[in-house]
Amino acid sequence: MGNTSPPQIDEALIARRVQSELSRRLVERVVDSTYIAPLGIALVAWVIFLAAGWKPALLWAGMLLCIELLIVWLGRGFRRTEARNDRPDGWRDAVIAASGLLGLGWGSCVWFVWAEDAFLLYLATLIILVGVSATCMVTMSPVRRAHGWFVAGLLAPMLGHLGATSNPLALQIGIGFVVMAAVQVLTTRDIHSELVREVDSSLRNKELLELLSKASADLHQLNGLMEEKNVALGSAMDALREMVTQDHLTGAYSRRYVFEQLERIASTKQRHGTAAAIIMFDLDHFKAINDTYGHPAGDRVLQEVVRVVGSQLRDGDMLARVGGEEFLALLPFTDISAALMLAERLRLALDAARVLENGTAVRMPASFGVAELMANEGYNDWFRRADAALYQAKAAGRNSVEAAH
Ligand code: GH3
Ligand code: MG
Ligand code: MG
Repeated sequence: MGNTSPPQIDEALIARRVQSELSRRLVERVVDSTYIAPLGIALVAWVIFLAAGWKPALLWAGMLLCIELLIVWLGRGFRRTEARNDRPDGWRDAVIAASGLLGLGWGSCVWFVWAEDAFLLYLATLIILVGVSATCMVTMSPVRRAHGWFVAGLLAPMLGHLGATSNPLALQIGIGFVVMAAVQVLTTRDIHSELVREVDSSLRNKELLELLSKASADLHQLNGLMEEKNVALGSAMDALREMVTQDHLTGAYSRRYVFEQLERIASTKQRHGTAAAIIMFDLDHFKAINDTYGHPAGDRVLQEVVRVVGSQLRDGDMLARVGGEEFLALLPFTDISAALMLAERLRLALDAARVLENGTAVRMPASFGVAELMANEGYNDWFRRADAALYQAKAAGRNSVEAAH
């Protein structure tokens, strides 16, 4: 998955595939063309029969049919190894060699029809051979070597024949045939180049499509991973937000969060003049609870304090733990007299509350300082006044409520 470089076509792989595709096409076409060859063989055999009698005609036709059968057999071998994904180069080369043999077989017919007084039959043979070699030009174009061997095989008996004759007409026909063979070789070269281009581009397209579909599958998988990561990130953000805004022991708001709210309310007051008050409270002799019952018992008392006080507050009020056993209740839209009444209610509720520790009812009385936000007062001063009032309540004997000045 780590590989993010763009998909690249493997040139060497394409070149190998082009070669094997061309081999495959050569074998297919050569084998296919052997099925129509008997027609040409019959025609040439008939010409030979007219020129030299039925025995040579039969001999020649039999020989060429054997070559055709050999090609069919080689083609089957090629296909078998190709289907097994072996490299069928040996079979391919044998088909190429058999192409030369095929040329030799066709070309050898001129030895049977050659006669000083049978030029028309000679010409007829050559016309059939031109047709045959034009067909081979197309069928053997995937591998030029195959066509080259075929043409060489086709010409060899004819050139041998030309060397053995002194007739000027045979010479002219022979030279004409050589020129035609040269043209065919050049034409085959063009057909071959065109074919290579076509095979190359179609294989390239196929390869590109495969690369593309693989890349899109990778992308899909990457998207899935990203989505999973996003969900995990979202949960982590939620947890983080909770950690920042909540006190993890009691579930009350955090000091940081409530101070943000104090600041916000203090600045709103400047614009709208709405009332707001805070109640600071601190548990009385809380240290003794820890010392007597242990720290976990102290924790349970703190949780109970939040539960008891929380049940007395309205929606929109906010209870925060601002120190070890110090709390702050923020009361929007509340003036000092209402806040003092609420503080007294909270004091009574905490004074009445108990937590059972080893059969002993532990008390949780607290001292309270109440302050209403004054005009043009900053949130720090507001808080400081409430804290001072709380200190007064402690000094006055604890378990009491004091209003700030
Ligand atoms: P005072 O009436 O003057 O407030 O006396 P106090 O004992 O309540 O006050 P003091 O500041 O001496 O002690 C506060 C104690 O609170 C000390 C500390 O160990 C304890 N404390 C602070 N945070 C926690 C906490 O999270 N859990 C527990 N169990 N105890 C805590
Ligand atoms: Mg205390
Ligand atoms: Mg304290």
